Amino acid sequence: MNMLNVGRVTRSELAADAPSEAHGIVHDEPLIFELGGWEKTGVDLPDPELDAGDLAGLLRQAPIGLPGLSEPETLRHYVRLSQKNHAIDLAMYPLGSCTMKHNPRLNEKIARLPGFADLHPMQPVSTVQGALAVMDLLAHWLKTLTGLPAVALSPKAGAHGELCGLLAIRAAHEARGDARRKVLVPSSAHGTNPATAALAGYQVEEIAQTPNGRVDLADLAAKLGPEAAAVMVTNPNTCGLFERDVLEIARLTHEAGAYFYCDGANFNAIVGRVRPGDLGVDAMHINLHKTFSTPHGGGGPGAGPVVLSQALAPYAPTPWVVSGAAGFDLVEERRGEAASAFGRLCAFHGQMGMYVRALTYMMSHGADGLRQVADDAVLSANYVKARLSEAMTAAFPDGPCMHEALFDDRWLEGTGVTTLDIAKALIDQGFHPMTMYFPLVVHGAMLIEPTETEPKREIDRFCDALLDLAAAAKAGETAKFKGAPFKAPLRRLDETAAARKPRLRWTP
Ligand SMILES: *Cc1c(COP(=O)(O)O)cnc(C)c1O
Repeated sequence: MNMLNVGRVTRSELAADAPSEAHGIVHDEPLIFELGGWEKTGVDLPDPELDAGDLAGLLRQAPIGLPGLSEPETLRHYVRLSQKNHAIDLAMYPLGSCTMKHNPRLNEKIARLPGFADLHPMQPVSTVQGALAVMDLLAHWLKTLTGLPAVALSPKAGAHGELCGLLAIRAAHEARGDARRKVLVPSSAHGTNPATAALAGYQVEEIAQTPNGRVDLADLAAKLGPEAAAVMVTNPNTCGLFERDVLEIARLTHEAGAYFYCDGANFNAIVGRVRPGDLGVDAMHINLHKTFSTPHGGGGPGAGPVVLSQALAPYAPTPWVVSGAAGFDLVEERRGEAASAFGRLCAFHGQMGMYVRALTYMMSHGADGLRQVADDAVLSANYVKARLSEAMTAAFPDGPCMHEALFDDRWLEGTGVTTLDIAKALIDQGFHPMTMYFPLVVHGAMLIEPTETEPKREIDRFCDALLDLAAAAKAGETAKFKGAPFKAPLRRLDETAAARKPRLRWTP
């Protein structure tokens, strides 16, 4: 019974606050360190035959401090934790800019084949020819879909890909003896863009946005000059809109001697329809965990390959795969054709498991299927935009959106309810909230990305839930919002404190 505590939130508390319905038992789940004893272990291994002679006095003297639990205790702990959270496998997860689409189980099946799952990165190349063939084929698909001639597979996330692209750009400028100092970033950019530019040693300058949610060309032209190393533009942008002037952005950028970095996190909206290389892009990261349906890990493992133009290709980081008469090989050293490589981004070759999943997704969809991904993602978002515009204010009402629908908070004026309250109340309806307060250029932003994998029925359920909340907000039912979520294991949390003062260490 001690496993089934009625937890921090008691049933009576829930019943008192909750707007409706009964609740199941809420497990108060301790940390695994609090749960596990130190004396026992869940595995039965023979005592090791210890030859400490090889360890030169490095033999551990004290216990390692891992909690001991049996297999069922361990399993239940993690299953209970998983039930405290929302998951894409439970219901719609409309987090804008994140492309929370379904991860096909076929991807998982293929990634678990022992020939992929049991590889070691230091195996001799002759024993991993199949894995190198997968990397080579994935690179081929990425280059074909983007119309760019080179790709660095190793970056491990979108932000890591941005760093890769900017380091290649810096290396290209430095090779000409041109030490440019600035990177231009639109005001609507994802926070990783200016952060990456700063990390790469650049000054960040903001480009203004037009009233219709796109890059202000006049402002861009005025800020471009001999100091500008690169322009970082997201297309479709984070307002869910296609940058119609993208060719002109590329022309102005190149005319000023700068490179065009495209944040490709929103590639899902245009895959199979538009090749960024045709738009004049020099470098773009692709979030395999967004467009190509590999899972979004809790901080990893992700993969953010970067495609590069001819001008930047020589500076790509090692390693990369080459093929010849003797089969596939890895270029690892900065010599020969890799003499100008800017270095490497990780110890080995990147996230093999993600490569396998992404390639499985590409090959099972085919070229026509990938094009349909983009079509359906855009259709879903426009359906959401049309339905919710009945009650909510679209930030850019004129014309269609791309893969995500952006609302502001004008429709909440005078209700006393905020964007945050709406998001929290959505949790009680069984949905993950949309992205809130991003992009920063829209007041009280609510960014909704349904993705192509949601059936119409689920999108309707979501829209109905939001329209009900909108009606409640307008009818003055503020109590429904201010304490929400009522049905989550924990209630309204101090998220700012959690982010600013995280307690990451367990102390006995
Ligand atoms: C997700 C995202 C990123 C960052 O990607 P990570 O893989 O989370 O590092 C960058 N830009 C945009 C527009 C994104 O949506």
